[in-house]
Amino acid sequence: MTVQNKVVVITGASSGIGEASAKLLAANGAKVVLGARREAKLQAIVDAIQAAGGEATYQVTDVTKMADVQALVAKAKATFGGIDVIFNNAGIMPTSPISALHTDEWDAMIDINLKGVLNGVAAVMPDFTSQKSGQIITTSSVAGIKSFPGSGVYGATKFAVRNLMEVIRTESAQEGTNIRTATLYPAAINTELLSTITDQDALAGMNQLYDAVGITPDAIARVVNFAIDQPADVNVNEFTIYPTRQA
Ligand code: NDP
Repeated sequence: MTVQNKVVVITGASSGIGEASAKLLAANGAKVVLGARREAKLQAIVDAIQAAGGEATYQVTDVTKMADVQALVAKAKATFGGIDVIFNNAGIMPTSPISALHTDEWDAMIDINLKGVLNGVAAVMPDFTSQKSGQIITTSSVAGIKSFPGSGVYGATKFAVRNLMEVIRTESAQEGTNIRTATLYPAAINTELLSTITDQDALAGMNQLYDAVGITPDAIARVVNFAIDQPADVNVNEFTIYPTRQA
């Protein structure tokens, strides 16, 4: 199977990487199901996909709530008759030094970036196990493979999902359930992500970097498309994606 006709659930689909992926996958014949909190954004993206001849629907979803993510998957099954792929992509990045003790933001990152991914996994696992196929793609970060000042908790959530994806892959291989996983490690991608940073020093540094080298989220959408497009017996595990100009 290729991207064509696959049912793909995408979290964090109201902007940035999720939006770009939804549009590219739909243009290539996938049936996409968009989840995020901002309904007006989701509606506008679905309208644009449908106007271009693609198939899409949405479900307002807060990934920190298991029932919401289950409802998102249920929407995919009710609308398109099943689910083939979940792209766990929702995330926030309020970076700051640990010494600043922005503990509310620590909690939010754990809830969205880690618990949100676990909720996505739990929501698809019964179907993927019984149908003996499925693919789980998760957006980590270069902060999930390298340690950067300011990324103590953000990086911790992104290191965690890396481990989770690889363990799911190996357990599935042992259990014979054919579940594929892929983890994405993007560097500076120009999206709305920096708007989640409240620490002014951290924000200034990130703005400087992104203004200098940031690339568009289509770069990540193409990688997502590539991972889904592989034959069922091929699992492409990990992708690190840097702007060419980023050191
Ligand atoms: P955006 O801010 O543009 O997108 C983030 C998405 O996550 C939005 O659609 C937002 O939608 C959604 N989201 C946030 N909180 C929740 C929630 N509780 N429930 C459901 N959806 C939620 O940024 P990106 O596209 O850049 O971010 C996508 C992923 O990429 C994130 O996981 C991020 O950590 C990762 N990443 C990004 C990099 C970059 O440079 N941009 C680099 C490395 C990783 P809404 O507010 O409507 O809910």
